Amino acid sequence: MGDDFDVIVVGAGMAGSAAAIRLAQGGANVLLLERGSELGAKNLSGGILWGHDLDAILPNWWHEMPVERHIVRKRFGFLSAERSLSVDFEDGDWRKEPYVAHSVLRARTDAWLAQQAEAAGATVVSSVPVERLHWEGRKVHGVVQGGEVMSAPVTIVADGANSRLSLGTPIRPNAHLAPEATELGLKEVYRLDPSVIEERFQVGPGEGHAEEWVTGIFPEGVLGGGFLYTNRDTLSLGLIVNVASLYDRGVYTTDLIEQFKLHPTIASRLKGAELVEYGAKLISSGWASRPAAFHGDGWMIAGDAAGFVFSNGLVIQGMNYAVRTGLAAAETALAAKTSGDASAARLAEYDRRLAATGVIGDFRDFAKMDEVKWNPRFYAAYPKFVTELFHAMMTETGAPKKPVRRLAAEARKAAGVSMTRLIRDGIELYRST
Ligand SMILES: Cc1cc2nc3c(=O)[nH]c(=O)nc-3n(C[C@H](O)[C@H](O)[C@H](O)COP(=O)(O)OP(=O)(O)OC[C@H]3O[C@@H](n4cnc5c(N)ncnc54)[C@H](O)[C@@H]3O)c2cc1C
Repeated sequence: MGDDFDVIVVGAGMAGSAAAIRLAQGGANVLLLERGSELGAKNLSGGILWGHDLDAILPNWWHEMPVERHIVRKRFGFLSAERSLSVDFEDGDWRKEPYVAHSVLRARTDAWLAQQAEAAGATVVSSVPVERLHWEGRKVHGVVQGGEVMSAPVTIVADGANSRLSLGTPIRPNAHLAPEATELGLKEVYRLDPSVIEERFQVGPGEGHAEEWVTGIFPEGVLGGGFLYTNRDTLSLGLIVNVASLYDRGVYTTDLIEQFKLHPTIASRLKGAELVEYGAKLISSGWASRPAAFHGDGWMIAGDAAGFVFSNGLVIQGMNYAVRTGLAAAETALAAKTSGDASAARLAEYDRRLAATGVIGDFRDFAKMDEVKWNPRFYAAYPKFVTELFHAMMTETGAPKKPVRRLAAEARKAAGVSMTRLIRDGIELYRST
């Protein structure tokens, strides 16, 4: 008897839905399975979508997709106890179509994307928590749910960061993610009138502002950053915290997000806003979090499940890689269907596509950054150093003026960082970028 489907895709996030759309467009009989009772319900991002990878399957997608605002400004900065220092970047090109980035709320975008898969001809089923891959020796031949096998020559694993389908299998022999390469994302959504958003963040209707902060305000050793993005009539606010840095510190992540919100710089942005939603999700990011392989007999792994989230403290980009890797897996599956061969040798084309589309390079070449970005001094000493320095330079007290080099030395001392350490960290950061 033949297989139930040509391809089974597990997970209707950005990776799975993009794959299912392309597969259906290419004429494959594809099943997209999602555990959430409603499509999009389980999905969470900050989130800024750099969406140009979607052009390949959905031309002019931003006219139809329920995106929030197109981003016209990014702010990056440091927070210390009572101070903040930031840099704004604005780019005229970002104001023009095709826009480069949009703020999104995943419950809306992901439901819409899965609907596009269905419209293209995929069978999309929610409320199906796939139990496991159906292994025949080292080959995957579909999935198991409710004790029943659904078979297909190719299965695309796109079940997100804490990929239960791959953990403890030949794809990811460890049963758990490594805490050092795992981050916890916390997010809250606040309702605020669009006219207040536009006035407060100095953007026009439809335009958005995004900001990311290195947070030197947490208990010693807790490493993380914060974000705040403008949506149509809400603000998305949250933290990304290194999981290993939370061990044995006795801190509650709810306290961390409270600390972030209470910082005067952030509190002023939230004035009058009402909390309407909150959530948390793991992020498995960087080259160190990659699985043992990206493909094998009858399977490929895409998106967060494969660790394809790029984060360097300045940006977090996972949705774009989810779409790109989902599409690469779909193209490979279409070629496998044509040749009637879903062996590991045939599906090796996936790795070649990952390399050709820059995915492998982006992660392998920035592997050093994954280590350097968790240097504890970036989350304590340096925010203090830069904000102390600017405080001293910017505040007129009537006292005799001091040269900047002296102020810098004093700020360094106050932050407890030696010149040698500062230079070494600077060189290491430079080399990793
Ligand atoms: C707080 C936070 C902020 C972020 N900010 C950004 C940002 O600004 N920009 C950006 O590009 N990226 C951001 N990211 C990363 C981004 O969210 C991910 O990279 C992206 O969601 C990956 O998409 P995915 O399809 O691979 O996985 P997911 O979106 O996690 O989708 C996986 C899907 O699989 C389903 N699933 C899981 N297990 C099963 C199962 N057994 N059976 C059936 N279905 C299953 C899940 O319900 C889910 O729908 C952020 C992440 C977090 C947590």
